[in-house]
Amino acid sequence: MSIKKVVRYGEPSLRQPSKEVHKVSQKVKNLVADMLDTMYAQNGVGLAAPQIGENYRIFVIDVSTGDEPLNPIVFINPKIIKKSGACISHEGCLSFPEAFTDVKRYANVMVKALDRNGRSFVLEAKDGTLLARAIQHEFDHLDGVLFVDHVINRFEAEEVLKKFNLPPLEVERILDEPELSEKIDELLKEKVEKEGKN
Ligand code: ZN
Repeated sequence: MSIKKVVRYGEPSLRQPSKEVHKVSQKVKNLVADMLDTMYAQNGVGLAAPQIGENYRIFVIDVSTGDEPLNPIVFINPKIIKKSGACISHEGCLSFPEAFTDVKRYANVMVKALDRNGRSFVLEAKDGTLLARAIQHEFDHLDGVLFVDHVINRFEAEEVLKKFNLPPLEVERILDEPELSEKIDELLKEKVEKEGKN
């Protein structure tokens, strides 16, 4: 299949909610193949369909590293059925070249989806692993939500976007996440205390 152009932050389609897939047709399978080709070409961990301009509820993830064999996971019409805990996640996004910032995430998620053959599966990712965080990041793309909407330090994020010549932070989009914020504040406090001891 082929490598597609990745939609950049600032383009309106990234903010549009995506449509459910009604049938895992050959067209959908071709789209999945293009998404995987594009993700690997860009050395990404994950990619959502709206990032290549296709507003369908599909994302792909591969958290394999180095010499490990490739391990693509395809999620079609995903639903997050459980989420708990909290973690600080240092994230970037193929739609935000080079820009990384700390965001709030759940530590544990359980997701139900269809695979690329249209078969239903359930996957649990725990303890703030890269997979747990990537699932949340990619899932968000399907609702037009971006990682910077979960930012922990707004001012740091604004600086990072400016540094890499990206459009400014959309402050009004920052999510109010009271449950997560409380746990993140505790984690930040623990981090400061630990750093103080070293
Ligand atoms: Zn992304």
